[in-house]
Amino acid sequence: MLTRCLIDTDALTENIQALRSTLSPGALMAPTVKGNAYGHGLELTARAFLEAGADWLCVDALAEARTLRSAGVEAPLYVLGYVGLDELEEALTLGCRLVLYNRETLERASALAQRMGVTARLHLKVETGNNRQGLAPDAALALARQVASAPGVELEGVASHFANIEDTTDHTYARYQSAAFADFCRALEVEGLRPRLRHMANSAATLLWPDTHMEMVRPGIAAYGMWPSRETLVAALLAERPRFELRPALTWSCRVAQIKEVPAGEYIGYGCSYRTTHPTRLAILPVGYYDGYPRSLSNLGYVLINGRRAQVRGRVCMNITMVDVTDIPAARLEGDAILLGACGEERITAEQVADWAGTINYEVTTRIGAHVPRQAAPGSAK
Ligand SMILES: *Cc1c(COP(=O)(O)O)cnc(C)c1O
Repeated sequence: MLTRCLIDTDALTENIQALRSTLSPGALMAPTVKGNAYGHGLELTARAFLEAGADWLCVDALAEARTLRSAGVEAPLYVLGYVGLDELEEALTLGCRLVLYNRETLERASALAQRMGVTARLHLKVETGNNRQGLAPDAALALARQVASAPGVELEGVASHFANIEDTTDHTYARYQSAAFADFCRALEVEGLRPRLRHMANSAATLLWPDTHMEMVRPGIAAYGMWPSRETLVAALLAERPRFELRPALTWSCRVAQIKEVPAGEYIGYGCSYRTTHPTRLAILPVGYYDGYPRSLSNLGYVLINGRRAQVRGRVCMNITMVDVTDIPAARLEGDAILLGACGEERITAEQVADWAGTINYEVTTRIGAHVPRQAAPGSAK
């Protein structure tokens, strides 16, 4: 194959263990493997996380749960995203835990569970200020009461999600959300409702605030060895939290498909956006924006070849990218080019690519095409 991602499963293991070391005993580690495990490959990553001691896995959609169950994963799966009413039967067959924020889901899950002789385990999602998925506290409380009186269902969890904890070192709003969640849990308790699992912590909260861990945490990005943001890293340093060595796990590479010499004064690529000023040696890479290499890296990013930087020349195409190897005489046909990851002394981080592309590390790795094979790096555990 011409392009692939190698996953250092030892790094995944170490990240899970580092995160685990911050949890109070008994708290469940439920790393998030949505988005093809943030681009790292769903099955490979799920196995690595579970072997590293993850208790549950969080997925976004039923299809991901199906893939994991087909691959023999038996661990509890929590589906973070919406499961359609017509998908609920399969979700219950697969033993998924479901997020709950509407009456329709409750009624259908209750009816199905009774018919199937199973218990539907539901996690009520309460709004604390993100105004994305979930119900305002009053409506959530009313739905909780309905769960309590519906047959075949169990209110196993109560959840919420932070809006801006990783966007700033000023955590006033996140603290407010955390307090709102605690208020809601107390209101449930007043009604005699005590879901076994309260959970709200994403990576930033897991890293920064032990008091948000409660009975379960749902870290994503940190489990892959990336900080949620610079602000979170700064906040962790300021708070004198234990220093984590999060280790990035993904290396994306491709093989050089052609080496060519171009005279001075020639244009390179679509739009003639680059013109050589001297005789130039180019490496043609068989990767483009279709594969997830951002087009915004045109004339901006670089890749690593033989441990040295090779600048992107001209526009990134759908399936092809041109880089300058004039000063890398060792570059050769079918040699490796590193698009993301380390090579020799150099490393291209997802954060670097994100800065070039005007986005965040999350998007950089999740955008790597699903058709690009993910393989465990030789020498890493699996
Ligand atoms: C994606 C997601 C997470 C993980 O967030 P990170 O910032 O990657 O740690 C946790 N909870 C929910 C509901 C999510 O959608």
